[in-house]
Amino acid sequence: MNLTHQLIRWSRIRPHDWAIFHGARPWASFVQWADRSARLASAFRERGLEPGDRVLFFAQNHPRYLELLLGCWWAGLVAIPVNARLHHREVQWIIDNAQPRIGFLHKTVSADQLAGLEQAIEIESDSYESLISRREGFTSVPIHDTHPDDTVWLFYTSGTTGRPKGVQITARNLLSMGLCYFNDVDPIAPKDIMAYAAPMSHGAGLYSIPHLIAGARHVVPASGGVDPAELFELGRTLGPLSTFAAPTIVNRIVDYAEIERLSFEQCAAAFKTIVYGGAPMYVNDIQRALRVMGPRFVQIYGQGETPMVATALSRHHLIDTMHPRHLQRIASVGVAQTPVQIRIADAQGQALPTGEIGEVLVRGDTVMRGYWNNESATRETLRDGWLFTGDVGSLDEDGFLTLRDRSKDLIISGGSNIYPREIEEVLMTAPEVAEAAVVGAPDAHWGETIVAFVVAKPGQRADAELLDQLCKENIARFKRPKRYVFVTELPKNNYGKVLKTELRDRLARAPT
Ligand code: AMP
Repeated sequence: MNLTHQLIRWSRIRPHDWAIFHGARPWASFVQWADRSARLASAFRERGLEPGDRVLFFAQNHPRYLELLLGCWWAGLVAIPVNARLHHREVQWIIDNAQPRIGFLHKTVSADQLAGLEQAIEIESDSYESLISRREGFTSVPIHDTHPDDTVWLFYTSGTTGRPKGVQITARNLLSMGLCYFNDVDPIAPKDIMAYAAPMSHGAGLYSIPHLIAGARHVVPASGGVDPAELFELGRTLGPLSTFAAPTIVNRIVDYAEIERLSFEQCAAAFKTIVYGGAPMYVNDIQRALRVMGPRFVQIYGQGETPMVATALSRHHLIDTMHPRHLQRIASVGVAQTPVQIRIADAQGQALPTGEIGEVLVRGDTVMRGYWNNESATRETLRDGWLFTGDVGSLDEDGFLTLRDRSKDLIISGGSNIYPREIEEVLMTAPEVAEAAVVGAPDAHWGETIVAFVVAKPGQRADAELLDQLCKENIARFKRPKRYVFVTELPKNNYGKVLKTELRDRLARAPT
């Protein structure tokens, strides 16, 4: 079950059709994509990489991402795409944990900042291109005979312990996710084109799979990021785009359409489907999005541990305004996707009756094999075949899941998951800090913004600027608290645990 065969299939059926674009510029045909992936696979072999070895991608969105994925899988290697915005110390932790042998790095990272890689190659350099360059008598290595349960993608997600955990995503997980997209999210035709505006290390990149299987096209915007004007222009030039975006990005796209007074027809010419998920979407926002851009939205709910697949709220359900429970439905995350079952359970994992609130469990072919080298976390998260998501919600009588809350402390800001403990551990290294507790405060633009409550040691003074500097030196910039609140003590329960709910309530009561 090697996903590379999907590329080979299209490289035979439509060899010279353009498969990948960089901006509006054609970048590779199907046969060129397959050829470049084959050459990468051979280069990996020549450098001594064996099936099961890991390859790190620490890079911004680039068309090369797609051939690197396929080149790795061709040779039976495990891809580790990590967010280009991570601090190099965070990436170092991932390297220490997963021990990749090669790293493909973006140009702003110096290989000297990362220890433990046998080889580091800048993704936009000549040495990258020389891996692929034509050599006399080149014959490709055979496509690796991947078992469905082999890990092919290590997806690093932070845990409540603050330490990232490597989710082992298998070939079966990816194929099931790719196939169910057609049933649960959106049918794909070969003329369709997937645009990678959000990071390819996360959901957007995972959605390359259904588009690969369907023989559709792929475009990486020239800016490598999210620029609504650029996306509308690309859609008009190349054909209506499909894309995956967190709600905050969706809101920016809708803002643009509204300000430019684009008609439904103009929106339809630029976007076929915008899939949103990864964080809560407020009812007002999705209603406005539908009003401004028309029926081109689908919601998904999933997590790294069951990539992109738990539930989906279809295009049809989003526009079915005559349904008596329409409002409840658009506030939900939809119904179970095809390969999974959803259960709402109590703390022991026992199913709760319809309507009751409990932890969301997921079981099925997209659920991860386990965490990399972390048996205790795997045992805690996978029990009796069920994935304990840490999300809290309820199912209605029609099977629609409404998420009531997230695992208590996770902050989701701009679609990125931020684990307070990680930030607290950095703050606690400041000599003047006695205690620190980080929570999310509601924010109209980002969803949530990060606020740190800090208690200084007796007789000492903590300073926001110095703490911010400390964070800059240790964690990704987007995880830095945007606000510091200095207090004399933190609210605690009888067991001495900090009551974060109370801190959040305080912020809600006095938001500024
Ligand atoms: P990640 O593993 O980074 O993809 O984050 C997954 C988490 O994001 C889930 O466990 C949920 O808490 C949250 N999430 C994902 N999709 C949605 C959604 N559609 N609505 C609300 N929260 C979501």
